[in-house]
Amino acid sequence: MKNIVIAGAGFAGIRVALKLEKKIAMLRDDWSIILIDKNSYHTYTPALYEAASYYHARLKKETSEEKNACLPTRLAEALAKRVGMGFDGVVGGATCLSIRTIIKNRNITFVEQEVSGVDFKEKIVKTKAGDGIPFEYLVLALGSEALYFGVKGAGECSYTLKSLPDALRIQSRIEELFLNAKAHSGNIEIVVAGAGASGVETAAEIATCARHLYRDYGIAKERARILLLEAQDKILTQVNPGERAKIKKRLQKLGVLIRTGIKINEVTLTSVVLESGEKCESSIVIWAGGVKGPSLFRQFENIELDNRGRIIVDAFLRVKNYSDIFALGDSSNFTDEKSGLTAPATAFIAEQQADIVAKNIFSSIRAEPLGKYHISIPGYAISCGGKYAVVSIFGVTFSGFLGWLIKRVIDLRYFLSLLPFWQACSLLLKEFRVFTKND
Ligand SMILES: Cc1cc2nc3c(=O)[nH]c(=O)nc-3n(C[C@H](O)[C@H](O)[C@H](O)COP(=O)(O)OP(=O)(O)OC[C@H]3O[C@@H](n4cnc5c(N)ncnc54)[C@H](O)[C@@H]3O)c2cc1C
Repeated sequence: MKNIVIAGAGFAGIRVALKLEKKIAMLRDDWSIILIDKNSYHTYTPALYEAASYYHARLKKETSEEKNACLPTRLAEALAKRVGMGFDGVVGGATCLSIRTIIKNRNITFVEQEVSGVDFKEKIVKTKAGDGIPFEYLVLALGSEALYFGVKGAGECSYTLKSLPDALRIQSRIEELFLNAKAHSGNIEIVVAGAGASGVETAAEIATCARHLYRDYGIAKERARILLLEAQDKILTQVNPGERAKIKKRLQKLGVLIRTGIKINEVTLTSVVLESGEKCESSIVIWAGGVKGPSLFRQFENIELDNRGRIIVDAFLRVKNYSDIFALGDSSNFTDEKSGLTAPATAFIAEQQADIVAKNIFSSIRAEPLGKYHISIPGYAISCGGKYAVVSIFGVTFSGFLGWLIKRVIDLRYFLSLLPFWQACSLLLKEFRVFTKND
């Protein structure tokens, strides 16, 4: 049996596995697909903003006994319950999908382990548990980590939003701030660092959720501030000016204070120090500054990384100098030789690349020519809190409720690529039920 090992079951990895499984069924040789992930679940990251600001429904569901429990116990229990239960929890159920459910009845072996290294010479993937998994072909799809640009204290003192546990930590902290503000004087200062899509969506969702928190905790709006900081001179550089203005207006309506051209020098537990020397108080800093390749890659010898620690790949998405190792998604750096564009770190690109990697591994096994990847970006979709989104597809823009509906169609399209029809619809309904309660 020859192994095709796929490290990472995120947007890129899971799609390579599913696409390749269909193809290799046609081969006479014995090929086995082994999918490795440190989690038992696949995270649908576009729903993480909702998870981070999930409050209303949870509070309503709590029994009075739970409500009366002391805050640290309540938060710790809630976190442990939901993180521990992974995709079985209320929020988790609408954000994460069981990998075993996705690959059910497929000829794919799932290994729930953390990859700790690769022996490129012997062709073995090593795991933290001490196992070695030999491979004929290897796909590296291990996603990304937060990039702090060397800002002092950012790694230690800010929150990131990359996973379900991250989202639950943010949600717990925000609720804790409102509880504390109710008991004591003092203001709530929520700082979101970075106004790319991630920062904008996070700030908008928190602002939407905060409306319920002001009411339920009896806090005057003036006591809380949501500050969105951006180093560049405008938010959402990838969005066209008309739509940017729309999104800006929406954020302002939600009460988000936007400051652009602001460089952060230091993050502490209670403040953000700007390059100008100005000190902004902060009760929580959510870092949405950018991404870099997984730290694990730094120990790889003979693998070329870019300045953000991502693996440089060729036109066929192969790791430079290797014909049997592919890298894609957020883990990789691909520059399109046709357009000169560098692939952005988005789920859409990860999915596009997955189709090419699956095709190329199959072609390589059959000793056929490989296909080149070319970036194609049909548009973007930005959620702006509540039932409001701005979606641009092939130059046509939909905003407001219509944009929000189209975003749900995008969700459904994705769920359908992983699950049978009724399961995908049920997941979408779960999303509706859980997350629209915040709106
Ligand atoms: C909050 C948020 C919202 C987003 N919203 C959008 C959006 O609306 N639209 C969009 O296009 N993009 C969005 N993105 C970006 C998108 O999520 C990424 O570009 C996409 O997930 C990249 O896919 P990937 O497969 O490369 O990485 P990931 O999806 O991150 O998958 C990496 C996988 O590797 C696993 N892994 C990591 N390290 C190890 C290890 N050592 N051992 C084993 N397993 C490991 C992880 O558990 C994970 O399952 C969003 C990102 C975030 C954080």
